[in-house]
Amino acid sequence: MEEDFSLAKVTQISPGAWQISLPFLGEHEIVGSYLLAGGNELAIIDPGPGSMLEPLLASIRAVGFDPQEVTHILPTHVHLDHAGATGSLVRQLPRAQVYVHSKGAPHLTDTTKVVASASRIYGDHMHMLWGDIESTPAERLHTLEGGDVLQVAGRRLEVHYTPGHAIHHVVFFDAHSGELFVGDVAGVKLPGVDYVRPPTPPPDLDLEAWSDSITLIRSLRPDILYLGHFGAIKEVPQHLGILREKLLAWGDFILETMRSGKNEAEIIALVIEKTQPELQRVTRDAHALQRYEIASNYAMTVQGYMRYWRKKHPERLQAP
Ligand SMILES: [Zn+2]
Repeated sequence: MEEDFSLAKVTQISPGAWQISLPFLGEHEIVGSYLLAGGNELAIIDPGPGSMLEPLLASIRAVGFDPQEVTHILPTHVHLDHAGATGSLVRQLPRAQVYVHSKGAPHLTDTTKVVASASRIYGDHMHMLWGDIESTPAERLHTLEGGDVLQVAGRRLEVHYTPGHAIHHVVFFDAHSGELFVGDVAGVKLPGVDYVRPPTPPPDLDLEAWSDSITLIRSLRPDILYLGHFGAIKEVPQHLGILREKLLAWGDFILETMRSGKNEAEIIALVIEKTQPELQRVTRDAHALQRYEIASNYAMTVQGYMRYWRKKHPERLQAP
């Protein structure tokens, strides 16, 4: 059968490791997966959305592997852009077993709630964006906790629990190679643009937990971070410092606007007005602005912070 490898954009990042760009909404290098191979095993870190299943499988074939040989699926967390394809993959790939944080597991074994809440948000665009969101049979799923160690694809991967962006978020650290696969907890930074955006969707955003997770990541002293959105970060302490600063500064700004009685739509407009110039200073490319919006949009950013302040710190919403 003819294979359309044009769907695939794969880059080898180290021996036995590849970065896969999934052409989400027709855009490359926004949504990424990672493939690890070794010891007769194949592992996918963050399989991506269900709508990108075919490009993902094409990418694995493009590297020279048979997707049927996939043994491990390792979502950093269960958001749809990272783990939406998990159930469909498990159904199609007989050897594949899923490893996910215990708090994320129920969302994969029964996707009914995820589908319902995403349908409320995305409406008619639901299937175009996310494709099928199938459940994973419990017997194919294994729960992780921070401190676990996985022997996967010839590597020893440490599992570290990193809540803040999501309560079911883990990172996978190969201490031998210094490679750390960080999902969304190290923020969004797209290739070629010197700009970090904190992805802060509802409902789990927790600034204290996220700050602690950033401290934990620093303490591992990784040589390189691999982001979900998108690619490699080599200046690790600098990148994490900027992320933490921005995460907290945006939080303060949104808290102020809430205290002054602004509603959600007004706050979104104010955040755009405040932060777009920062991004425009580092790129004049209007397309780059749209690309950041695909990776992490302003509406969800604001909704995440508003929920966080109301739920975790209602006392701070009182005007001083
Ligand atoms: Zn996420």
